[in-house]
Parts: sequence; structure tokens; C-alpha cells
Amino acid sequence: MVDSKSTKPHYEISDTKNVNLLSERESATFNVEELTQFMFGGPDNYYELNTRRKLIRLALAHPIHQTHLPIEYLDADEHYSVTTRKSLLAIEEANRLNITNDKHRQWFYSIFANNHFALYIHTSMCLYALETMANEEQKREFVPLARSCYITTAYTQTELGHGTNLQRLETEAVFDRTTDSFILNTPTLTATKFWPGALARTANHALLMAQLYTPDRNHSCGIQMFLVQIRDFNTHEPLPGVELGEISSRYAHAAGDNGYLRLTNVRIARKQMLMK
Ligand SMILES: Cc1cc2nc3c(=O)[nH]c(=O)nc-3n(C[C@H](O)[C@H](O)[C@H](O)COP(=O)(O)OP(=O)(O)OC[C@H]3O[C@@H](n4cnc5c(N)ncnc54)[C@H](O)[C@@H]3O)c2cc1C
Repeated sequence: MVDSKSTKPHYEISDTKNVNLLSERESATFNVEELTQFMFGGPDNYYELNTRRKLIRLALAHPIHQTHLPIEYLDADEHYSVTTRKSLLAIEEANRLNITNDKHRQWFYSIFANNHFALYIHTSMCLYALETMANEEQKREFVPLARSCYITTAYTQTELGHGTNLQRLETEAVFDRTTDSFILNTPTLTATKFWPGALARTANHALLMAQLYTPDRNHSCGIQMFLVQIRDFNTHEPLPGVELGEISSRYAHAAGDNGYLRLTNVRIARKQMLMK
């Protein structure tokens, strides 16, 4: 139903019943529909635009959108609760409607959750990072769990003291030969992971960037990416050695569930380092 191959527009933008919006559009000095079509692939390509408009209709027709005040009226906790519930339902609905194209799924999720899809970083950036940075064995193990959202991730790179300059990241992963595992630490205040979306309340794993050290700790072998469980699968509480929190008020505070993370002697198996 969604993946229509039609070449004509299905819906005109004047579908809206909002008289104020219609009158504003009529006073525009350019053709709004023409510009919309241009942005979605040009006048001869209605497929993407038609698909997007169908997805909007399908998403907003769901009864959950009638069950609460508009999200702009909700406080931070209610906002998080409603948008998270909608986010999980969006995934179920996308499966039920058999929306298979990744871009169209992201559109659907975003519309369904009023542009606050709680697993946006996970389903876009982190899944892609896992698929490209993991070796074949790791992909077989991790990707199905991540695709089904049993594992949910936060892209955990930026530190309180280090943003653009990634070489200076201080979070460390020291290899322990005797147990074939890594020991993770954020050894200073400036090493605190700070900003990652979905870290404060949502993700149960961090896709963590850290300096890799061999056991002698003489020098760093460079930045590597690790898949680290940070919350318990049943209770969703932080695991031992993991400190998590909100980064407090910020513009668009409800949007990103941005958080901080500190690690103290957290041990992970060697296979958790992405090894492509
Ligand atoms: C809303 C939001 C969401 C975020 N989500 C995530 C997330 O999910 N995961 C995550 O890991 N991080 C996240 N971040 C952090 C983001 O990736 C960093 O803010 C970004 O990497 C920049 O780092 P910084 O803020 O420390 O700025 P800095 O690195 O301090 O840079 C400040 C300014 O200096 C410039 N600059 C820096 N170095 C140089 C140089 N060598 N030469 C010239 N100019 C330079 C930069 O371009 C910039 O304009 C998020 C940030 C925001 C605001």
C-alpha cells in the first residue's frame, strides 16, 4: 500500500482544512506545491512525495494521537513518557504496515512520534555504525538484536572536555590478557561522556568511543568503538560501575534525551570491540 509506484501526485497540499494556513499559502509569492515537489525529487517524480503524504496520513490516523494533550502542553516527564510510548508503537505499526524501505520507516517513526522519535539515533546512526564497523561474526550476533530493538544504543562519543578533537578523548579501554576482556574507565572529570542522545533514559547500550590500551599501558593504540551494555535488560537500572544522568535543561530539552555517562572498572568481553 505504501510503496506505490504511481507517477502522479495523490494529494495536493491544499488537503488541509486550516483556513489560516490556506490563506497564508495563497499569499505566497511562489507555488507551494511546485516547491514541495521540487524538494522531493522534481516535477516528474511524485513517488517520494506521494509516499511521504501517505505515511503522514497513516501515522496520524492512529487513535493514540487522540489520547493526550498536544505534546507542547506536556511537562518534561509526560513528554518523555508519551513520545516513548508513541515511538515503540511506531515501530509496531511500521511492521504491521510492512514499510520496508529504511528512509520511509524513519519518516513514519518521526511523524508518528511528533518529531520526537526516541530511538532515532539508534535506528539511523547506530545501526548503520554497527553494520559497517562490526565483523561478520559480530554482525550475526548484534545486528538482529539491534534491529529488533532488544538492544538499543546511544552514540557515545563526545566528552565533557573533548568534542571535535577526537584524538584527545580520555575514556580508556585497557585490554586484560588474563581474562580476554577490556576494562573501561572515564578516569577524569573531562572524560565524562556528555551530550549523547538517548543516553539519559532510553538506551540499554552505549556505542562507545574510547582510547584502546594494551596491558602495559605505554601508549594508546587509537580510538576504537565498543558496544557496551549500560542498563539491565529487566530493570533498566544502570549496571554496576555505570553512572548515568540527564545533562539538565537545554534548548529543545525534550527532544534528545541527552545524557552523561561515567564508567568505573566496567569489564566487557573482547568481542564487544567492533573489529571490522
Ligand atoms: C543537540 C546535540 C546532540 C548531540 N548528540 C550527540 C550524540 O548523540 N553523541 C555524541 O557523542 N555527541 C553528541 N553531541 C555532541 C556534539 O557531537 C559535539 O557538540 C560536537 O562534536 C562539537 O564538540 P564541542 O561542542 O565540544 O565543540 P568544540 O569541539 O569545542 O568546537 C567548538 C567550535 O570550535 C571549532 N573547532 C574545533 N576544533 C577546531 C580546529 N581544530 N580548527 C578550527 N576550528 C575548530 C568547531 O568547529 C566549533 O565551531 C550532541 C550535541 C548537541 C548540541
